[in-house]
Amino acid sequence: MQIKNIYENANAYLKGHFLLSSGKHSEYYLQSAKVLEDPKLSEKLAKELAKEIKKANIKIDTVCSPALGGILSGYELARALNARFIFTERVDGVMSLRRGFEISQDEKIIICEDIITTGGSAKESAKAVKDLGAKIVAYSALANRGYCKRVGGNNEVSSICKLEDDLPLFALEDFYFETYEPDKCPLCKDGSTAYKPGSNSGIKHT
Ligand code: ZN
Repeated sequence: MQIKNIYENANAYLKGHFLLSSGKHSEYYLQSAKVLEDPKLSEKLAKELAKEIKKANIKIDTVCSPALGGILSGYELARALNARFIFTERVDGVMSLRRGFEISQDEKIIICEDIITTGGSAKESAKAVKDLGAKIVAYSALANRGYCKRVGGNNEVSSICKLEDDLPLFALEDFYFETYEPDKCPLCKDGSTAYKPGSNSGIKHT
């Protein structure tokens, strides 16, 4: 499966000058929501991810995603793995399990994101369910930004990756691209201005 092509065709792999939530600038941006707006395509991608996970022969009871970004990919992954799906969300900044979701003792959970960058939200989501008795067996995402190491990937794990190194990360593709501190950004030096992707309220097609 040509994941990069799928992202490009869905206008989800953007080229420009972006201000990331980390405060850094970048020439590229991944907008998984644009891929996931097609339910059939989402299902196909999740099935492909499930195939990788099944190869590893890990027992999984439940898929858990951090809201909001991970919910669509996690829900489709749960369908493909024939597992239960739950999500965590931030309450006053703390990732929490709400909505009446329950965890059984030693329930085997895989955390699923759309994209793993440093894995910060994924790890917070893992902590929320671990504190309630779950056992985290793996992490997963449609795309890996290349800071953490996925099963089958070629990159070295970076010091900014927050995921535990004794747990596998499954993802369909590595999307590595440079990010810059604003004062060292070559795009700024060329005179353009970084903008926050995804902050527009929708583009009207005419
Ligand atoms: Zn810049």
